[in-house]
Amino acid sequence: MAWRSSGSTNATLIENLYINGLIKSPRVKDAMLAVDRAHFAPTAPHQDAPQTIGHGATVSAPHMHASSERKKACESLLPHLSPTSRVLDIGSGSGYLTAVLAHLVSPGGSVIGVDHIRPLVELAEKNVAKSAEGRRMLAEGRVRFVRGDGRAGWAEGSHRDGEGTAEDGYDAIHVGAAAGEVHPALIEQLRAPGRMFIPVQDSPYGQNVWVVDKLSDGSVRKERLYGVSYVPLTDEPGK
Ligand code: SAH
Repeated sequence: MAWRSSGSTNATLIENLYINGLIKSPRVKDAMLAVDRAHFAPTAPHQDAPQTIGHGATVSAPHMHASSERKKACESLLPHLSPTSRVLDIGSGSGYLTAVLAHLVSPGGSVIGVDHIRPLVELAEKNVAKSAEGRRMLAEGRVRFVRGDGRAGWAEGSHRDGEGTAEDGYDAIHVGAAAGEVHPALIEQLRAPGRMFIPVQDSPYGQNVWVVDKLSDGSVRKERLYGVSYVPLTDEPGK
């Protein structure tokens, strides 16, 4: 689908993804129009293809971030992305998806991107700061990047003042690398209701996306969606 959906500008890339049915939701389309992928992907940013960003990490292809029949990242989390939602993006890499998520929870919500490679945390912040709106979001704490092992989530993370509050927890958690299991700490950090999108290496032969719902009564439902191929969530390099 890459050859059909690429564009010469961010607007044409997103329009082509929409026309080809790879973005279905107008909300996701608007958020992706608001974030220029050229600020995050070093080469050929308006191709519908993944890009290497160094440190063994990649920015996924835009259609992976959007939606499709197979409910990609943004679309499956959409019911939990409101203008006040708190979101955790694990394996934030270039910061591209973190920025798109921040637009989806604008103006009152916030997103924390977690990556375990410090230069990528700094790169993501620098990338978001390339636009005026990105700089505003960073200044207001609506987007924040932290270094940490995403398998533990970000427990103190869902508030802006460094103090624990009753607001702790996330309405939506996106995991951008394949986990070895559905880590219990991540389920714990979901609000009720809340939803997590997580690729899991759940067999020796492959990975599947799981959607984990914490319902209003606190009960947890897990649904296995479809096979995928993500880089794994790993120990920090050199550790
Ligand atoms: N969604 C990102 C790319 C994800 S690539 C984007 O659009 O740019 C996967 C990312 O997961 C990489 O940046 C890698 O450094 C990070 N990662 C791998 N293992 C991790 C871990 N244990 N904790 C936090 N981040 C991790």
